[in-house]
Amino acid sequence: MRRSAILLGIVLILLLGAMAAAPLLEQPPLLRTHNGPGQFDATRAKGRLAAILGDQRPHPADSAADDQVRGRLIASLSEMGMKPIVRDQLACNELYKQRGVSCARVRNVIAILGPSTGKALLLNAHYDSVPVGPGASDDGIGVATLLEVGSILKDRPLRRPVILLFNEGEELGLIGARAFLSDPLSRSVDSLVNLEARGVRAPVNMFETSRPNAVPIRVFAGTVQNPAANSLSTDVYRLMPNYTDVNSFSERGWLTLNLAPIGNETRYHSPGDDVQALDPATLQHMGDQTLALAQALSTGTPTPDAGTRIFMDLSGRALVTLPLIAGVILLVLLLLAFAALAVKRRGFATAAAIVVPTMIISGALAWIMLALIGAARQGMFWRAYPEWTHLATYAGVLLIGTALIASVGRALSIRQLRVSFWLLFLGIGGLIGLLAPGGIVFFLIPPLIALAGMIGCELGFPTERAGAILAIVFLYISWGAMIGLLQELLNGGPMWIFAPLATLLLLPALIEAKPLIDDVQVRIGTGIAAVLVVAGWTAAAAAPAYSADRQQRFVIQHATDAAQHKAWWSIVNDGAPLPSSFGGGWSWAKLPFGGAKRWVKPAPREPSSNMPVVTVVKQVRNGNSRTLTLRLSGPGADDIEMVAPEDSNFRTAGVAGFVRPIDRSSAGKYYIGCSGRSCDGAMIELTTDQLKPIDLLVVVSRYVLPPSAAPLIAARPSFARPQYNTDATITFAHVKV
Ligand SMILES: [Zn+2]
Repeated sequence: MRRSAILLGIVLILLLGAMAAAPLLEQPPLLRTHNGPGQFDATRAKGRLAAILGDQRPHPADSAADDQVRGRLIASLSEMGMKPIVRDQLACNELYKQRGVSCARVRNVIAILGPSTGKALLLNAHYDSVPVGPGASDDGIGVATLLEVGSILKDRPLRRPVILLFNEGEELGLIGARAFLSDPLSRSVDSLVNLEARGVRAPVNMFETSRPNAVPIRVFAGTVQNPAANSLSTDVYRLMPNYTDVNSFSERGWLTLNLAPIGNETRYHSPGDDVQALDPATLQHMGDQTLALAQALSTGTPTPDAGTRIFMDLSGRALVTLPLIAGVILLVLLLLAFAALAVKRRGFATAAAIVVPTMIISGALAWIMLALIGAARQGMFWRAYPEWTHLATYAGVLLIGTALIASVGRALSIRQLRVSFWLLFLGIGGLIGLLAPGGIVFFLIPPLIALAGMIGCELGFPTERAGAILAIVFLYISWGAMIGLLQELLNGGPMWIFAPLATLLLLPALIEAKPLIDDVQVRIGTGIAAVLVVAGWTAAAAAPAYSADRQQRFVIQHATDAAQHKAWWSIVNDGAPLPSSFGGGWSWAKLPFGGAKRWVKPAPREPSSNMPVVTVVKQVRNGNSRTLTLRLSGPGADDIEMVAPEDSNFRTAGVAGFVRPIDRSSAGKYYIGCSGRSCDGAMIELTTDQLKPIDLLVVVSRYVLPPSAAPLIAARPSFARPQYNTDATITFAHVKV
């Protein structure tokens, strides 16, 4: 028994080790040190990007830094012998799943390779950054990829035009993409490869296609050597509030593939998104895929196919793909086969009382531990070292699983447990399939392997155990990689979600360890697992919350209510208490602009915070609606935003040539924004069904702090930086229109 206890301890530690190693299952290929002619050279591409970004100041659309970046981009294209075209437009685009329109002066840079007529392939990236960071990955990785791919393709005979679009204003609301759609050139496009980023490292995932997806998946599977893609993530992405230029382009029905890395979101949309942080292996992974796709798609328009496919990559080495309908039929057949076996072997209800409670109790355990540590530490305490929180969560799954197998499961045989587990696994797969049909791809092959072993066994061959173990290996390769990806995607939480997920990956292994679990007393078996849980949560609680690489979000702003003559300091962070060097007087409250709670304290008024001005230049009434023309005024403003209440009933907003519809099916306030130097004096046209005067909150931002902020900037912790919002001076006032 003592030997069994030691062996069980080793098995549990090995399982935790496997979970720790899961993210390694999906890595970009190693950086090549030597590239043959015509191969994507990531080192050269990164060098070009560094030159274009220069001093790495943020370069949002229509800013002085942006002019310099564009100048160097155009020079780089010209040096390669291409003839870039610049389209200069004051344009607007509607927000998606939100009521609003945003506008900016954007200058799209376009280079065309190959013949000048025929249906074209569009390769798209955006060269503007957010106001808060240099955007070396978002979307410098796309810019670097397009330049390198362009330099290779320009010397090849192309059968049709390939358009390189370096668009501008994506970060402000996909404005460059909208501007391109007004360009006659866009009429010739029939295929699109879009390049984006939500991180700086790890593989470049293909996370979105046009639908139906049979043609893009056929092209992708047939050309990309190291695929990182699955149909669960493409389905989940569609449910998430994330947007890329594809949201605007999709109305044209082009064949579309969308690629982006998501490794280390803590640097995304922050000053940490710098050239140094961009992993050249990630850039090479994007480059190899884009070059292969461009090569394949430049030969002609693929033949249409209305089918839908499910797919997943195997550790970046191959893409398994089959028609959705075949997947559904296979899932149903597997369910029937395991149901029949479960009836024959019996014990399903008892086994279900192990599987389902393991998911629920381990999830609850993680939730409670996160709440307890969160209450003591506040803020995102797992941000720098999320691996400890993950491992503690997985140890919890091992604890609950071991305890239930040792108690509830003692009366069951391994053979009964195996059948019941896979039957439940398939049932959960079916439920997930109702929400995200692409997800069923993860529920087919492991039970199929296990079933083959069981059928062999039923026929008298000793294959069941081998089948069970092979199924676990396959489960680990596919689910381990998927969980590694989810750990990156859900780095902000909810963290407890990994307990039920990991249950489905770890329980089959615990079931195979049942002889060991049975051989030791319940309290010893659970005691060993409990030690791992305590060790895991102790490490999670003790690990530093932030590091040089993975810093705390920390935005400092000075805000003035111009009419009330009041001003505040505002600090947006993850909710952690401010360091003592910030002094007292802070409260956790909301300000009239921006939805989230933040740290707030009265501040001295700044003489420069002038009253924002929006003037009604013209008003035309037609029937039950009216059209307003407003002139914006904000000398030196980097951004002017008008926020209107829910009942403002705006139908359209924009500037001449780009008056865009507003998505009124979504709920909430209306946001009409203009960013960049050209907004001072810009004329915005609004149409509303609201005949009563509308109260507009006008918010003017400058991306610089007043001199009085110097002590706060100096007191900002060393592992903290702004993210998503930028340090800014904000002035707001109400205007009736
Ligand atoms: Zn982007």
